[in-house]
Amino acid sequence: MSKKILDAAGLFKINLISGDVFYTTYNVLNEVKSSFEMEIVNSYLRSGKLKVFEINKEEIENERKTLKSSERLSDADISVILLAKKLDDDSIVYTDDYELQNTLSVLGIKFEGVKVSKIKERRIWVYMCTSCGRYYKTKIEMCPVCGGMVKRRLKKTYSI
Ligand SMILES: [Zn+2]
Repeated sequence: MSKKILDAAGLFKINLISGDVFYTTYNVLNEVKSSFEMEIVNSYLRSGKLKVFEINKEEIENERKTLKSSERLSDADISVILLAKKLDDDSIVYTDDYELQNTLSVLGIKFEGVKVSKIKERRIWVYMCTSCGRYYKTKIEMCPVCGGMVKRRLKKTYSI
């Protein structure tokens, strides 16, 4: 199974990507600005869906020196590249960032776009507790297990 790495764009389209476990870096999480988005990320962390790696500043600076047009890449972008190198040959980066995709292709690292293409999709919605990450099939306001707020989430998409 290839390890699926997400940049910030991928993080919020996680439900469009099949898989149970995803990888990212703290640099990417630092790009998450709104508390609503952070709440979503936290639920992924609690449920074990998202694993976060630390890439230190020095590694990023060293990598930046070796990359062409690295001035167009953020620290988070470079941290994603480093994570792909660290994980294994079979890792795949999900990003819609053109510069990052370009650099990945130069480096021979596999990548995929995240956005829904022209293909029509069928979506499966579920209700998820924003605190403990449990899924519920029916609409409820409060999680009966932990008392957290339950919100609608996209569970799966199917191509038609
Ligand atoms: Zn809960």
